[in-house]
Formats: sequence, C-alpha cells, structure tokens
Amino acid sequence: MTTTTAFSTEDVEFIRDFRIMGQFGSTENGGVDRQAATTPDGEQRRWLAGLLEGRGFTVTSDRVGNQWGLYEAVPGAPFVVVGSHMDSQPTAGRYDGAYGVLAAAHAAFRLVEQWNAAGPDGRPRFNIAVVNWFNEEGSRFKPSMMGSSVYTGKLALETALATTDAAGVSVRDALDAIGCRGDYEGPDAAFCAEIHIEQGRSMEREGITIGLVHSNWAANKYEFVVNGEQAHTGSTVIADRKDALLGASMMVVAARELADRFPGVMHTSVGQLTVYPNSPVVVPSRVNLLLDLRSADEGVLAEADALLHRRITEIERMANVTVERSHSHSWPVTPYQPEGVELAAKVAADLGLENKPVMTLAGHDSTNMKDIVPTVMLFVPSVDGISHNEHEYTTDEDIVAGLAMLTEVTNRLCNGALEPVSTAGETAP
Ligand SMILES: [Zn+2]
Repeated sequence: MTTTTAFSTEDVEFIRDFRIMGQFGSTENGGVDRQAATTPDGEQRRWLAGLLEGRGFTVTSDRVGNQWGLYEAVPGAPFVVVGSHMDSQPTAGRYDGAYGVLAAAHAAFRLVEQWNAAGPDGRPRFNIAVVNWFNEEGSRFKPSMMGSSVYTGKLALETALATTDAAGVSVRDALDAIGCRGDYEGPDAAFCAEIHIEQGRSMEREGITIGLVHSNWAANKYEFVVNGEQAHTGSTVIADRKDALLGASMMVVAARELADRFPGVMHTSVGQLTVYPNSPVVVPSRVNLLLDLRSADEGVLAEADALLHRRITEIERMANVTVERSHSHSWPVTPYQPEGVELAAKVAADLGLENKPVMTLAGHDSTNMKDIVPTVMLFVPSVDGISHNEHEYTTDEDIVAGLAMLTEVTNRLCNGALEPVSTAGETAP
C-alpha cells in the first residue's frame, strides 16, 4: 500500500530550507564537510542569521562562537533554549546537528506567529532562543561539545579559545576569521529542548517516530601517545625495533576485544591515529591515538578501563614501546529530568506519534544543558542507523513529524509546563 503524505505549506518551506542548508560544504557523495569555524561553517551561519533576522529575531554570537537567535515576547523573562549544532565531521551527513538547528528555527517561527496572532492574551511566560552550538563534533578542535561546555561553565572560556587544530590555528583565530566571535555571554536559560537524529537503528526497526531520551551512555575518551624509535624499515633487525605503529595497532585490536568481551553493552573504537613521521621507509617513532569506551553501565565501563590499562602494559612489553596517556575526558550516565520525558510523552501522544523512551549513545549539547536547566531531548529515526557518514538519511515524513513534536514541546515549555509548582499560598509552619 502506498500512502502519500500531504505536507502543509510550512512543512514544504522547512524541507526546502533543509535542502538549501545541505549545500553549504556539500561533498560529491551527497554529504557535507563543515568542520567548526571553517569557511563553509561561516557561510551557513550567515545564511541562518539571515533566515532568523527575516522573521524578527536578533542574531548574535557569544564569546565562544555559539550563534543565538533571540525573540523576546516577554521583555526581561528568561529563555527557552532550542537548538543543536551545525558543524560536522569531515565527510559527514546532512542531518547530524543541522536538522536540530533548522527544526528549532522553524519551531520558533511557528510559535512567534501563533503568539502574534493571539495578541496580548497569547503571550508566553518565557522567551525563545534558537541556538547553533559551536564545535559539537570536536573533529577540528577537541574536546567535542565545546560551545555548550563553555556556556554551562564546564570548560573555561580561555581554555576553549586557546585550543588549536592540527595546523596550529586557535579557536580564537578561527572564529575571528569567519567573524563569529562576539562579546555576548548568552541568554538566561530557563529550559532547553533539542531534537537530533538517532544515529542508531532501534527506532526504525520498531517503527517509532519519536524517541524520548531519558539518559545518556557513559563514556571515557582517551588520548594516548605510543612512543617507539625511528629506524629503517629494511635494514633494522626486527628484534631491535621499537615500532610505535605496531603498538598502536595492538591497541586498536585491544579496544575491539573489550567490546567483544561485553557484547551489546559496550562500544569501543579508535577513531584517529596520527603517525610520525608517516614516511615510506621509516619505522614510526610515535603514534597519537584517540580511543573511546562507552557503556550504559558504569560498572562495565570501570571494568573495561582497568582491563584496557592492564592490556596496555602487555602491549608495551610485546611491541617494545612505551604508552602514555596524555588526556582523558569522561562523562557518567546521567538522567534527563523525568518530568521533561513525561511532558514529551504527553505531546507525542497528543500528536498521535509512535514514541518510546531511548538512551543516547552519543554525546549531545543537551547532555550539558540538562545539568543546568530541565531539558527535553528528542530523536527521529536514522535510516539503517547510518551516521557520521555521507549517506546519513531520515525521511521527509520523519523530519516533519519531528518538527511538529519539537514545536509543541517548545510551546509548552514557553508556557511554563515545567515550572515548579508555586508554594506561595501554602501556610507557613
Ligand atoms: Zn550531532
């Protein structure tokens, strides 16, 4: 049976804007390359600013390059912050992050229109801020989720601005080069909402349109340096070699073996190797390696961490190298506010959208925001679970359903649905 979905004019406008968005930094295979504070990132930010300003929003960048579109319906009231990120991994898909920012903008446009049509009696209790968080991906500048980490006070502004990419360019200089470093400190947030693609296949498999994110997986991310000694690949006797790449390769395998040891409950990977001198006839003297361990079970994560470090001691001996841990970055399993999950479940039911509670395996800016204000995190399905890949895809039906969902969640947040119940009238003891 074939059904044709009738999209409203507003939905068609959203789909059109989403297609335009995918042209910034577009790649030959239908993906995008818009790493943080690169030229395509700057171009899409200017485009988004134009879109927001055209609807009466004030657009500004804060001190770490988060881009804000503010609409004050109630002068002086705090803001409901809605958005995601527009930077991407190299050769990434068009949906990761970008969908959430554009959905936030269109949700805000719809609400502002409703408020204006309703007149003075239709005023919300909170204002609305659309946000494009800076450097969520962390591919050019580490750590990931940099903009929301600074906004939520988890990372010092000066530390973020001084961070350099592989070419030695600092965040400060990169932001200045695209004209996106401002002096704004960011709005006073009361609540937050984010929508994102699932980046897994559980929702698609079960026919779910909206995922209600109730907590995040814990993660340990490490940067290791494997030190060996440079030598001739032909003439140096094997027993004399201190091959840093051999040691690093054993660590890649060790990471996978850890995942296999805890089937289904542990995800591990090495995403980056930097080999020095990376030259044809030279045994590498040094490899920098980024390794991550993730699990929903902190006990499993702690056990895997101990096993990994034990294994590293063996690798040092077998490959005749030394391994140092230069940085690590971790976050625990933390819940989103249950009242926010409940609110989202109610909205999904009211809109007739199939929904279920889910955990997020990846980190998101909302995982930072939930630590300072009640935050609602929503997912739409990813076809075949493909993500961080040019073939990432979500159907138009699902992106439009997600937009309707985000709009209504934001509407209720702006109207105080999660405001603590006032105790003003209660009798004092
Ligand atoms: Zn993302």
